[in-house]
Amino acid sequence: MTPDAAGMLKDLKVYAPNTDETLFELAYEYSMTAHKNQERASGEHYFIHCSAVAKTLIEFKLDLPTVCAGLLHDVIEDTPITAEELEKEFGEEITTLVVGVTKLDTLKFTSRDEAQAENWRKMMLATAQDIRVILIKLADRLHNMKTLNFLSKEKQERKAYETITLYAPLAQRLGMFQLKSELEDLAFQYLHPSEHNTLNSKVTQITKSREKVITSFKSVLGEKLKATNIEHRILGRAKTLWSIYQKMKRQEKSFEEIQDGMGVRIITPTIANCYALLGVVHTEFKPVSGSFTDYISVPKVNLYQSLHTTVMTSGGDLIEIQIRTEEMHRTAEYGIAAHWRYKTSGEAAGRDEHLEEKLNWLRQWIEWLQDLKSPREFIESLKTDLELHQVFIFTPAGDVKPLPAGATPLDFAYAVHTEIGMMCVGARVNNKMVKLDYELKSGDICQILTKKKSVPKKGWLEIVKTARARSKIRHYLREKGIVA
Ligand code: MN
Repeated sequence: MTPDAAGMLKDLKVYAPNTDETLFELAYEYSMTAHKNQERASGEHYFIHCSAVAKTLIEFKLDLPTVCAGLLHDVIEDTPITAEELEKEFGEEITTLVVGVTKLDTLKFTSRDEAQAENWRKMMLATAQDIRVILIKLADRLHNMKTLNFLSKEKQERKAYETITLYAPLAQRLGMFQLKSELEDLAFQYLHPSEHNTLNSKVTQITKSREKVITSFKSVLGEKLKATNIEHRILGRAKTLWSIYQKMKRQEKSFEEIQDGMGVRIITPTIANCYALLGVVHTEFKPVSGSFTDYISVPKVNLYQSLHTTVMTSGGDLIEIQIRTEEMHRTAEYGIAAHWRYKTSGEAAGRDEHLEEKLNWLRQWIEWLQDLKSPREFIESLKTDLELHQVFIFTPAGDVKPLPAGATPLDFAYAVHTEIGMMCVGARVNNKMVKLDYELKSGDICQILTKKKSVPKKGWLEIVKTARARSKIRHYLREKGIVA
């Protein structure tokens, strides 16, 4: 065994002590031999890429079949080995994962856009069957982004763009924030090199002075919280370059103008503790009005939970504070991968009641996406649904529906119930009549007016933003022969 393989096996056995060592070694050797005469653009041995992908999957603490599939992920695409041969050697489970991340034969497509859309559709379908497919693909993309400097400028930009519009939002949707931020900052370098470099040096410069502020704030906060005898730990937190850049663009402000980037996290065992600690924070420091958001009682779509608040230090600096439980923290960092890990570790199978909810959401969503026949429509809907910024809309009864920014009452109607969408004739937002293409804002209370025999109109396809609404409307119009 090479030292590289031995190291991986050692890390793997930390969280999966009963790992089948022979299977791991077999996958390692098999992939190394299969890619033997191939090089990457960097001139390195190709297998270094396969090994790096598997290492990321081990970092996520995923199970052995996923790690083996990570080692073997490019074997079908890039070597003469077929799926049948792989299956004979490694069985169905690993082979299905590898096939899931294998791209379709590009010769079949007339354009690159079409090929890209079809490959996404295929991968999402495989993901609906097995979530581990997308985790392997994300690990693959991460290493490709880290080694992007060896490719042509045109390829760099194309890959970076795909990463920022699809892979990073998807990681975010799966709650994998660490990975998402890493992908974004890597893509940022290639999409806007000069802005990236300027911001990078400014942030490095300011970090020093801010470190003092954070350190002294942490010690003052620590004293206050210690007095409560509530178990907790305080973590510092750095904002990523891309998120600062996005905020500057959104608010049309310069780096100096956005009072942002300083934050701490308080992690504590229970939800009750979260609110108790929040009370202490607000008593001891002046909260900035309007800054408090309760993502514990109203989680984000990706099930992210935390209390957010911004307070002012005695020195007049603003500090953003996030308060969450240990479990929320793991979910926030690793997202769906964290849940997967529990399920396979055997430590508490079935403990995560959110996992099925999460997977159902994903499966349902992919089903709607499958309904969209044209590749362009598919990829556009995928992008819209992955939109970072979401709005929370309330039904008159007080139920909350999270929707992508730009969503309309029609999207809301379909989110509440397909029937309501189908029979929609109008909408009232905060007690005022609005048009069906009205752009909903967070906190809006939306009431949908329906009429029994009313049916969807063709023009609705131009209005709706979500895949769900689009798919349902198109399905109806197609059945009636109104659209192809
Ligand atoms: Mn690869």
